[in-house]
Amino acid sequence: MASMQRDYDVIVIGGGGAGLSAATTAADRGARVLLVDAADKVGGSTALSGGVFWAAETSVQRALGVTDSVADQFRYYMNVNQHKLEPALVQRLCADGASTLEWLQSLGVEFRSEDLYRAGADGMLRGHRAYGHGAAIAEALEGSLSGKSVDVVTNTRIRQLYFEKGSVSGIISDGTTVHSGAVVIATGGFGKSPQFLNELYPDAAKHGDLAWYIGSPHAQGDGLFMGRAVGAELVGHNRGLLLLTTGFVRELEPYLPPWLIYLNESGRRFIDERTEYSVLAAVLKEQPGGTCQAIFDDAARRNSKSPPSSTWSTERLDEFVARGLIIKAESLVELAARLGMPAATLVTTITNYNADCAAGHDSRFFKAPECLQPVLTPPFYAAPIYPAVVCWTGTGLRIDREARVLNAADQPIPGLYAAGETTGGMFGECYAAGGASIANAIIFGRTAGVNAAEWAAA
Ligand SMILES: Cc1cc2nc3c(=O)[nH]c(=O)nc-3n(C[C@H](O)[C@H](O)[C@H](O)COP(=O)(O)OP(=O)(O)OC[C@H]3O[C@@H](n4cnc5c(N)ncnc54)[C@H](O)[C@@H]3O)c2cc1C
Repeated sequence: MASMQRDYDVIVIGGGGAGLSAATTAADRGARVLLVDAADKVGGSTALSGGVFWAAETSVQRALGVTDSVADQFRYYMNVNQHKLEPALVQRLCADGASTLEWLQSLGVEFRSEDLYRAGADGMLRGHRAYGHGAAIAEALEGSLSGKSVDVVTNTRIRQLYFEKGSVSGIISDGTTVHSGAVVIATGGFGKSPQFLNELYPDAAKHGDLAWYIGSPHAQGDGLFMGRAVGAELVGHNRGLLLLTTGFVRELEPYLPPWLIYLNESGRRFIDERTEYSVLAAVLKEQPGGTCQAIFDDAARRNSKSPPSSTWSTERLDEFVARGLIIKAESLVELAARLGMPAATLVTTITNYNADCAAGHDSRFFKAPECLQPVLTPPFYAAPIYPAVVCWTGTGLRIDREARVLNAADQPIPGLYAAGETTGGMFGECYAAGGASIANAIIFGRTAGVNAAEWAAA
């Protein structure tokens, strides 16, 4: 049995964006910190990510002459999710965005104004893309630990908190207790855990083997497991971001070719196919069957010159047709029959779409004119599309705006903090904007670091 003396003031479990931010911030407040990571190096999914940070009222926006407000950002975020999330968390996410982005800049992360993009369905320029992507963010955060009172231990997976007299005051690793004043859980999501996907993210799990996760292999939901064991509540069911895939290859394709049109089981289009990926998957899963078919003609197959990924090159398409993965038919009626879609509806859809292409105006879904390409030249093709690639998960530990983990009675569990993808409440059915997850991890990571250090000091 280890001594009851405190080994550290703050222990941070997990060293991605949230954990690194918590560790460095806690150390800045004078805490002696232990950061433990299951992987052989820190960084987590943060280091693998695109490195987009969603924020309003930033200096990067101002340099471009963009007028924006945190109030608009908050309103958009709440409205796009029909207010089915925790406003107090969303308010912090919005209000602390600019100062946190500046903090990252002060650590050496570059956000260039030319890389600012329209993240989110409201089209505001709030997507701040880090130069060097997520790896640059992780590297800057890791660099910020040097010279501070932070011990980093890797290759160590923690599955148990030390919980005594109703409060958390350490971790248990291989039977040894390491004592601390406070603990921050920052273990990321559960995209890699089939059990947690089954329990908490049925929209992903229902795709079976088609569902795959693109982040850190250590995203096993350990934070949820540990938190629950000490009475923490989980919040948000079926939350996360799913990206579209044909299921033919395990390649990440954030965007499919613009010339595809998507038909649901009824043989109808249901969305501008170029809609922001964050909204697209949420709308697709509401269609009958939760899937759709991407339809194109032989001209599109032959001319697929600059596909967004190798899946859509002419050679690969021919290969998928030969393997029977893409359905090929000499007429639209035959295509409908093979897909089990009502032929008359499918024909009407394509006829209307072709007329819109000729007129240069998508009169029903308003896809940009440059993306309109008719479905005219037989043979015709159909590739299945599933929202089955798990990018991140959004069900997790319930926290308050101070990053304190709450129990079933909404009371903070003394000594326990959490931040990042291991938490819930921040995300509704729709991912409001690319960049909100990293912003969430770093903003609440810093909050957790400050508050854990203060708790430990008190
Ligand atoms: C390919 C990809 C691109 C993305 N692009 C973007 C983007 O551009 N913008 C955006 O906002 N979001 C993006 N996301 C999502 C975003 O990257 C994550 O939600 C966010 O980085 C999560 O940060 P985190 O600190 O909570 O978790 P992570 O960065 O995953 O860190 C968790 C850490 O905890 C460690 N760990 C796990 N379990 C244990 C354990 N039991 N004991 C000890 N350590 C443990 C892991 O090894 C890992 O280092 C992307 C995700 C992916 C996969």
